[in-house]
Amino acid sequence: MRRMTQPQARPRIALVGTGGTIAGAAPAQAGDTSAAYQSAVVTAADLIERVPPLARVAELQAEQLLQIDSADFTDDLLLALARRVAALCVRDDVDGVVVTHGTDTMEESAYFLHLTVKSAKPIVLTGAMRPGTALAADGPVNLLHAVAVAAHASSAGRGVLVVMNEEIHSARDVAKVHAMRLDAFASPHGPLGAVVEGAPRWWRAVARPHTTSSEFDIAAIDTLPLVGVVTSHGHMRRELYDAWVTAGARAIVHAGFGGGTVPAYLKPVLAELCAQGVLMVRASRVGAGPVIRNANFDDDACGSVVTDDQNPPRARLLAALALTCGADAAAMQQVFWRY
Ligand code: ASP
Repeated sequence: MRRMTQPQARPRIALVGTGGTIAGAAPAQAGDTSAAYQSAVVTAADLIERVPPLARVAELQAEQLLQIDSADFTDDLLLALARRVAALCVRDDVDGVVVTHGTDTMEESAYFLHLTVKSAKPIVLTGAMRPGTALAADGPVNLLHAVAVAAHASSAGRGVLVVMNEEIHSARDVAKVHAMRLDAFASPHGPLGAVVEGAPRWWRAVARPHTTSSEFDIAAIDTLPLVGVVTSHGHMRRELYDAWVTAGARAIVHAGFGGGTVPAYLKPVLAELCAQGVLMVRASRVGAGPVIRNANFDDDACGSVVTDDQNPPRARLLAALALTCGADAAAMQQVFWRY
């Protein structure tokens, strides 16, 4: 009897376009290496057209959720993105989701999805440092790799991933660390893996809760409470903190020097704001390494919170999510230790 070989079904991947440089183009006269281009002009469907090998990797369904420079992301747009990704993940005809996104705020969107989308299906963000019109554009290969990772069974349950420059990063850790180079993304603890010969190869997994094990759920979140970030530099002014309080911020991330250090002349200000009920969250502007509780600032006496090793932009999001659950300082501290 002849054995019939069934055609192999390709994984079905939803591609959500949001804009950014991966969807960017420069005018012909700008030159092949010019940084002068317009982001967010090429549609998600056209991005797919430009990468023929994608057809071998997955069956893609493209949609254009947004067409923006990622600098223009607001919390409302972030919530809309999370709702859309969550809706796609529950569909039986979707095996994984890829989001094309500007690189400037990719780490924030990725982290928000990592904490709020209740799905073990692979969710991968990717982008580009150069527009598609550049001589050595990185967008096409990044997109191919992102889809290959999203389409691979081994990517399930790892939380939200960022695939850039052949590396696979966890949304918990990754940050944009260079304004121009192709290796612009890095994680303080290293990438989770790499794309090798078109498939993911894993080295490690994140230990902290995410997606299905996170206590936050986009389905239960209508709006995000306002949380501000104040980044430290020499000669600070209290007006920066007061401005956030006037704007209605319920928590302020103090992005301090080194280990979240607070200048002596600002310590009474932070203590006063804590006493007023504003949650003060101490992070490090360095972007890596832990902030130690009660070191150089009396967190216990003031009722302030430290971020563990979360960088200030992600600390803002985690603090806002904790506030949606009614967290006080003690509960928020536990959230930062946990995530
Ligand atoms: N400004 C662009 C953006 O974030 C930069 C990029 O995508 O690389 O949308």
